[in-house]
Amino acid sequence: MGYFKIIDKGEGPTRLFVGGVHGKEGATTIKALSQIHESDVQTGKLLIYNCERSPYISTLDERYYNSEIGKEVLFIINHHKPSVYVEPHCYKPESYKKLVAKDRKQRVGVPPLIELEDGVLIGSVSPFIRTTHFKREDICITLEMPCSPPKKSLNVYVNVLKAIARSNNRAELENHLRVRYPQQVKTARRYAREFFGDYPPF
Ligand SMILES: [Zn+2]
Repeated sequence: MGYFKIIDKGEGPTRLFVGGVHGKEGATTIKALSQIHESDVQTGKLLIYNCERSPYISTLDERYYNSEIGKEVLFIINHHKPSVYVEPHCYKPESYKKLVAKDRKQRVGVPPLIELEDGVLIGSVSPFIRTTHFKREDICITLEMPCSPPKKSLNVYVNVLKAIARSNNRAELENHLRVRYPQQVKTARRYAREFFGDYPPF
């Protein structure tokens, strides 16, 4: 693991952020994760990992979780048993269209990512782990921004990470996000219902 930080404010939820889970994304995600400080967490724990470079396998590809890095990510999740799990990723500009495509579910089996602003996208994590390693009520989020992000995108991304870091539960997080992104929170709930049935969003 390239980078690890633990912020422990006692009683409260365990949150886990794992960046750079494949390829060289870690070189980008560290720019955001390194901006999360002690003062961003009020209660509970926040564990931050940022992985070193590894072969690129999509987390939607079953082989990912059998790869060395995939197993490492699963180990971290199983070890900490977070109720809030966030995977910061980054994408190449040419991938934007397929990440947000309305027919993404038909093509790759997961709902489209939702744009918050400035190319920052939010969605759930791989179904391979969402339904097997987490409880229904847990919060699981994939966050995407362009690799080599413009400053505006990086700021939005960091602010969302900080909103998650200071939320204790889903209601608090939705309230934080709804202030700026009311439509996106609604869409996230709808996609989650369509995908997971009565599963909670994210
Ligand atoms: Zn990725």
